[in-house]
Amino acid sequence: MTRIIKSPRGMQRWSLEPNRQIGFVCTMGALHEGHLSLIREARRQCKDVVVSILVNPLQFGPNEDYGAYPRTFEADYEACEQIGVDIIFAPEVSQIYPKDFQTRVIGSDLNRLYCGVTRPVFFNGVLTVVNILYNIVQPQKGFWGEKDFQQMHLVRQMAKDFFWPAEIIGMPIIREENGLAMSSRNNYLTNAQKEEAACLFRGILAAQEAFKTGERNSKALIEVAQKQITLEIDYLALVSAKTLMPIEGQVTEPTRLLLAAYIGQAPRVRLIDNGSLSA
Ligand code: AMP
Repeated sequence: MTRIIKSPRGMQRWSLEPNRQIGFVCTMGALHEGHLSLIREARRQCKDVVVSILVNPLQFGPNEDYGAYPRTFEADYEACEQIGVDIIFAPEVSQIYPKDFQTRVIGSDLNRLYCGVTRPVFFNGVLTVVNILYNIVQPQKGFWGEKDFQQMHLVRQMAKDFFWPAEIIGMPIIREENGLAMSSRNNYLTNAQKEEAACLFRGILAAQEAFKTGERNSKALIEVAQKQITLEIDYLALVSAKTLMPIEGQVTEPTRLLLAAYIGQAPRVRLIDNGSLSA
């Protein structure tokens, strides 16, 4: 039976019991197959599995969807119970950020690129909450989706820089049948919009195909993807898979195509996706 713990200190006490071997998945809830793939892998690899559910206000800008973000705790509980999660850690926002809360993780220059351009507080908010959650849960292994490639990269960097004992494990992107990357924000989309949004994946596939048939020019590869995308593009970037720095000119190393685009008016939904362009 999955147990719910709300108190941070209570969670930490459980985590510090002898012989824990904790696999941890951080989420904002509204769980879908993408999240569940991480949780199943944690279940497969670790003796103890903790899933956190917290819609983190620190990572939302003032005009973003903090209030509207889907909250589906009962269904999330059911899904976790079916997989055999030991603990759902579901603190109140006020327990994580009490009135006298002060300290934030700033992150690196990379915070201001790609998703950080239109979402300037996003990565600071993510890194801060992840640092808090990892201190509470004390996992041996943390499972992260490649869907949020820049986020995963920054978390890895933080884990390294701060000498976390936890290993950070990346997991592949889970997609709908039409190729749309699963996301809690897909809940905002109509069926017609979900169909249209699949053009993001077609853009990635087209760039991968061009790469396979020999195209190595960075600008040309981006243009191939762009041609498939009928949404309003926020950014499309070809970056080093290792450093996430932009690749100019010829591609000579493992590369990732990163993108974000907007769909709809009310609400205007921002979707992200990415794919590997390695040989
Ligand atoms: P979120 O609840 O959106 O903060 O996501 C929690 C975790 O699930 C993050 O590590 C995400 O990268 C991961 N995740 C979200 N969507 C997907 C997906 N479609 N495939 C794989 N992992 C995902």
